[in-house]
Amino acid sequence: MLILQTVNELKEWVRDTKKAGDSIGLVPTMGFLHEGHLSLVKKAKAENDKVVMSIFVNPAQFGPNEDFDRYPRDLKRDQELAEGAGTDVIFAPSVEEMYPRESQIQLTAGAQADVLCGAKRPGHFDGVLKVVTKLFHLVEADLAYFGQKDAQQLAIIESLVEDYNFPMAIRRGETVREADGLAKSSRNVYLSGAERNEAPHLKKALEMGKELVLKGQDPIEPMTKYLTNHTSGVIDYIELLDYPTLTTTIRQNAILALAVKFEKARLIDNIIFHPKGN
Ligand code: AMP
Repeated sequence: MLILQTVNELKEWVRDTKKAGDSIGLVPTMGFLHEGHLSLVKKAKAENDKVVMSIFVNPAQFGPNEDFDRYPRDLKRDQELAEGAGTDVIFAPSVEEMYPRESQIQLTAGAQADVLCGAKRPGHFDGVLKVVTKLFHLVEADLAYFGQKDAQQLAIIESLVEDYNFPMAIRRGETVREADGLAKSSRNVYLSGAERNEAPHLKKALEMGKELVLKGQDPIEPMTKYLTNHTSGVIDYIELLDYPTLTTTIRQNAILALAVKFEKARLIDNIIFHPKGN
């Protein structure tokens, strides 16, 4: 496995790989890898000749009072895990390498960013669009892989690719969970012991909400009560929307999504399902 830290090294590798006729799958991450990331690598490995994983904690997608500085990082451990899952190249640039100057052009997410995390984290998805646009152009991937764990991000990136004819396709990976249902997340390490014990209730609340939706009932109030009774966290949002449009009129698939703030970690989770139960 190669570890590349500069844009020029990456471009050279991409040029040689394309010349050899190999397809490229890209798995963008912020590192501190877990099974969720590795499941995307395995999917990418099955569908492409070469797999590039980017590891970059992107300052552009963190707000001023968010956890950019204390986001967990461990490149050495990440290297072993990435290689074990079949990664061919890790691209791990510095912030200066990625953003050598202040951008003169800004990308802005549309209405899909007005709900859920986009409403709570102003500018977050603009920062995501900024980094993925650069990564897509640098890696020239045929396929890029994103997890449904971050369903709003996935939907917005699908819009980017569709609206601006990026010459590639997006692949979705299912949410990988701990045995007790907690969605795997790099931020789970910041849960206290007590919070970790409460955290599986997020998935349980989603399941309960889904059952209510299937019965034609509004899930928000009962889910709010359930989470308030079973966790010490503060609910940031619970929303039921159409997926992937993220509008309030559910036409095809429903997404039930929530965010809960614990002492040192804000956790998000969601489930996507057919509102008629198919
Ligand atoms: P992150 O490093 O958190 O930015 O995540 C990098 C990619 O991994 C994103 O596409 C995420 O949606 C995906 N991902 C994160 N957690 C999970 C999970 N538990 N299951 C599946 N994919 C995940």
